[in-house]
Order: sequence, then structure tokens, then C-alpha cells
Amino acid sequence: METIASTPTHCPYCALQCGMNITPLPQGGVEVTERTDFPVNRGALCGKGRTAAEVLAPGVRLTSPLVRTGGRLVEAGWPEALDRIAERLGRTRREYGADALGVFGGGGLTNEKAYALGKFARVVLGTSQIDYNGRFCMSSAAAAGTRAFGLDRGLPFPLEDIPRTGCVILVGSNLAETMPPSLRFFTELRENGGTLIVVDPRRTRTAEQADLHLAPRPGTDLALALGLLHLVVADGRTDEEYIRERTTGWEEARAAAMAYWPEYVERITGVSVPQLRETVGMFCEPASAMVLTARGPEQQSKGTDTVGAWINLCLATGRPGRPRSGYGCLTGQGNGQGGREHGQKADQLPGYRKLDDPAARRHVAGVWGVDPDSLPGPGRSAYELLDALGTDVRALLLMGSNPVVSAPRAAHVEERLRSLDFLAVADVVLSETAELADVVLPVAQWAEETGTTTSLEGRVLLRRRAVAPPPGVHSDLYVLHELAGRLGVEKGFPTDPEETFEELRRASAGGPADYSGITYRRLAEEDGVFWPCPDEPAAGTAAAPRPHGGTPRLFLDRFATPDGRARFVPVVHRDTAEEPDAEYPLLLTTGRVVAQYQSGAQTRRVAELNAAAPGPFVELHPRLAARLGAADGDRVAVVSRRGRAVAPARITGAIRPDTVFMPFHWPGEGRANTLTNPALDPTSRMPEFKSCAVRVEVLGAL
Ligand code: SF4
Repeated sequence: METIASTPTHCPYCALQCGMNITPLPQGGVEVTERTDFPVNRGALCGKGRTAAEVLAPGVRLTSPLVRTGGRLVEAGWPEALDRIAERLGRTRREYGADALGVFGGGGLTNEKAYALGKFARVVLGTSQIDYNGRFCMSSAAAAGTRAFGLDRGLPFPLEDIPRTGCVILVGSNLAETMPPSLRFFTELRENGGTLIVVDPRRTRTAEQADLHLAPRPGTDLALALGLLHLVVADGRTDEEYIRERTTGWEEARAAAMAYWPEYVERITGVSVPQLRETVGMFCEPASAMVLTARGPEQQSKGTDTVGAWINLCLATGRPGRPRSGYGCLTGQGNGQGGREHGQKADQLPGYRKLDDPAARRHVAGVWGVDPDSLPGPGRSAYELLDALGTDVRALLLMGSNPVVSAPRAAHVEERLRSLDFLAVADVVLSETAELADVVLPVAQWAEETGTTTSLEGRVLLRRRAVAPPPGVHSDLYVLHELAGRLGVEKGFPTDPEETFEELRRASAGGPADYSGITYRRLAEEDGVFWPCPDEPAAGTAAAPRPHGGTPRLFLDRFATPDGRARFVPVVHRDTAEEPDAEYPLLLTTGRVVAQYQSGAQTRRVAELNAAAPGPFVELHPRLAARLGAADGDRVAVVSRRGRAVAPARITGAIRPDTVFMPFHWPGEGRANTLTNPALDPTSRMPEFKSCAVRVEVLGAL
């Protein structure tokens, strides 16, 4: 492996984007070491980040294109593999039209790749059928944030504000396992006298750190937030001056919440009236406070309204747009934030512009050198796109995603993928989805190519190339460049990431997520810049105007709505799409464990992580286990209307008796997403991962 230099960069995994150094080893390979100068993690890395270099090894990852021949994937050269993809995409378009071509991206792709992939779909293929796996991540929070504030940036303030606030309500986040170095912000909060309230049906490692743990029934967070708002109003704790001067729509939202009497909310959620009152006291008494949500309230068929209810609570108490206060979403995937800003979403163009906005289309088409009328309109959302495979959508190009494990109703999605006329996958490893492909392209990884990501704080970061990829491996940008050329578009798809970023800057200029003032040079010098950052920094003299410093804190003066005011939206509680009944009497909720990341495609290949978390399990409360006759370690089948998953039972008092939990990182018989419900939120098109009706069957001792 050719080495270049010891290099500061960022972790390939979650949205915390911890800083790390990559140090070449004399015997070959690289070592990940701590980087203490990056303010987010200050040298701390979780096991996933610490072991990330293992996935760079040739024995772990793909190093040759694979082409299906005689039913098997066999090694092939790049020209043959690219020719095959271009020929099949072109033929499908000729026979069935452009919308028979699908493109599926990922929240781990860099900003440059996400941008180039969206442009490739719309300019080269001419298809509207593009979306990405980030739809399954934070889309409900994005929709609710945009609806209320006019703009979605996961956290509208930096993480460093957390220790200096008075109270945090953390809703549906197990960050002690998903992003462990972030826990220190909450530890410091409590050391400074602030309080932490965790809302989660499970007593997670994060909940164990809390001053107060609320364990609502899955899918009832919306009612919980309404009940808290009811008490805020009844106790006279609203901030009337803030409501009057900085918001609209309060009367309707207040009226909706007043139907949620505490006793009624206790019946819906299982959270007691004294706990509701204690929560209101802890949240309202300090001068500053925050609500942070993650996948728990967001991955629901009413996720947008659930997040909206928590935002209403924040607005009624005068929190958003005030120092060390407000609402934020903890985005999960490494570039989940940037991935949704630059055009791989079904309904958006670069700069977080709306695809159906004529002015946005004109601007981006101008940068791309095409007729605005030639750009397709919005397409299907991620699950709807996957559901259409093999029928309306006949051929799919997929980059950096593994829906066979990570999509809801995964057996159906797998069957849809198998039914395609043609599937091409670009990935680092032979994922379960790549195994189904007709052509697999081995692409470079985080340490092997330069690119930018945008962390959960909205901080744009530079990941630097530290080592060359092994022979036989190329970048995703090379893939798009080569395919575009073969499909008749010779220009506009550079292989150089900085050249791509320069175009992204122009395309984002003037949009909600404006990167036009951000350059690679600045990112290297300043170790990250918060968007929006609209203008080019002036190089030069002391007399030169000060460059835009980026925007760590949003909404301090006004919200991004036309009138500058935040919008209350009246919301009401609804049942989950699938309530328990006699046949399926329990609720399933899913989540992550500390040693695995998302579909596990990378982390399951790391020996240390695999040893720490070798397979799935089913958490059962002791009372439920006794009723079922299950002992700890027994094989149990969890059965939903969509299929069954089998795994060992783990009996724990940390789960509610009416709920079972499975982590979702594994394929095969223990695949949790075989069970999950693809019922979609009407606004965000988020599936209901976090709640579905199941029964448990005890299969006996292992
Ligand atoms: Fe990487 Fe996230 Fe772990 Fe940090 S917390 S080392 S970014 S996986």
C-alpha cells in the first residue's frame, strides 16, 4: 500500500465526525490515532472509529469489479464492468423511458459524491427516481424543522452549548452507544448543575445517566409532548412575550394541546402524572433549555408531527433562537446532514433547494449548463422507490447503501431487488445488497480520497486522503465520470473532489444551505466551517473585508421563514400504524448497539467489533419472559405480519413488559428489519421503524 503522510482527518462512521489521525505503519497498513485538537471529541474515539482502518485491508474489502456471469459474480476489468452498466442503463431507458432508471444513494457519501450522484441522475439519466437511505434517518426531523423554522440544520447550535444550558430533554437517542464521545457534553451539563431527562422505552446506557428517565410506550412520544405542553399552559409557564414577538400560530397549537389532560396522557404513554409534572418543572425553571430528538420519535408514521409537538413545547417556553437553548436533531449517519443538502433526495436540488421551485431549478440548471425544463420533477421516496423495483423501475444504480439489511419490510425489499432487470452497486465491501447485483464496483474509502462531510452540527469538514487505494479500486466520482461519458455526457463530472466541490459551492450559492464561502483551503485552515457561509473569504491585506465566519448558531435574530417568525403547527396524537391485537400482542422497537454501525456491512468485518457484538438478540422483560416460558439465551422467534426473525432472548428489566427490542445490524434469520413496518409518514415519507405489532414464540434452548 503506497502511503502519503500522517494525516488529520475524520471518522468514516457516524455524524459526530470525530477527529482522528491516520498514521502510516512501516510494515504496511495504517493506524488510527486520537486527535486531541478537534473540539467535538477532543481525542476520544469509540471502538468503531478506533478500528476503522481494518476495513481498508485488501482481505476485508473489494479490490476488483465483479460481473455476474453464468449466475455467479466473477472478477472483471473496469472497462468491461462500466461498459456493462452503461449499456444496460441506456437500453432500459430506450425501452422503458428515463423513469425506469433508479438511483439510490447513501448518507455516508461525501458532499461531493452526493452532489455528483444527484446531478448524474437528473442530467445524464434524466430520471426523477433518486432517493437515499438518509430518508430512513432524519427526514421527519428535517420536515418538522423546515415547517417550524423555515430551515433544517440538525443542530442549529454547536454541541459545546449543551454543557452550558440548564436542562436537556433527550428524546429517543441512545447516544451512549451510537456516538459515545458525545456523552461528555451531557456529563459536563450535569457537572455544571444542569439536568438531563431521557425519553426512551428502554433503560439504555444513556438513560442510566439521566436525572429523570421517562419510558413511554413506543409510538406515543407525540402524546407525551402534548401532555407536557398542556401542563406548561395550565401552570402559566409559557413565554408570552416570545410567543407574541417571534412566533405565529400559537392559539391553534395551544387549543390542540389543551385536550391532552395529564391523566389522559398517562393512559396513552404509561408515563405517570407526577413524572410529567417533574419534567415540566425541570424544563421550565432554568433560563435556558433544549429538546434534542433522534430516531425514536422520528422513525414513526407520524414522525413529522411528533417532532413538531416537541418543537411546539420549545416554542411555547421561548427556547429556539435564544442562547444555549432550542430544538435540535441528532443526525445519525456520517454525512446524513450534507447528504440531504446537495441533491440526492427525491425532492431537492443542491443548496437544500426545492426541486419544484422554478427559481431553484433555473439557478441549478444554469450552473449545470442545461435547460431548466429538462430537469425532472420530484420522484419517489426511498421506500416507495425500493417498492417499485422490478415493476416501474427496471434498473438501479446504488451507491453506499445496504437496503437488504437496513430497509423496512426487508424480505420484500430483497425480493424487489432480485426482480430488477439490472442492478449495479458501488461499495467498499460485498454487502448483502451487492451480493444481488449484476455488476459490483469496488470504490475507495474515507482514508483513500479527499472529500467533505457536514456533521450533525452543520459543521462542514474536510476528510483528507491519507493513503492510496489499492490497485483495482477507484472513487465513486470516477465511476460517475466514466458512466456519464459512456452515456454521452463528456463534461461536468470531474474525478477531482475539489473541482466537484467548487461547482457545489456555485450550485449552493443563495440557497438555504449556502456553501459558497467555504473552500478546501478554509476547511484545512479552520478545521471546519458552519453553514450557511455565503461569501468568499477575502485573501490578503488587513484592510480587506472580513470573510464570512460561518454560522454556528442559527435563528438568534430571526427564523428562516418569510416573516422571520417560527411557526407553531397544531398536532394531535394518533395510534401507531399497527397497534397490538390478539394475534400480535406486543410492540417491537429496534435500535443499535455500541460495537456495530447501521447495516453492519463494515463493522461486522472488524474482528474486535464482531467479537463484542457477534449477532442479534431479543430483549424481553422478565415478566414477559416468565409468561412466555422463555429463559435467558433461549432461541425465540419474533413474528410480525411481514415475517419472522430468530435470535437468542436477552432477559432484562431495562425494557417495558409490553415491548421487545432487537438491534438491526445483521442479515439472515436474525434480521430485525424483516419485521418492521413500511407505513410512511405523510410528509417526510419516513417508515415506521420504531413500532410494529409482533408476537414472540419460544423455540427452546440453543
Ligand atoms: Fe466515529 Fe461516531 Fe465513534 Fe466518533 S462516535 S469514533 S464519529 S463512530
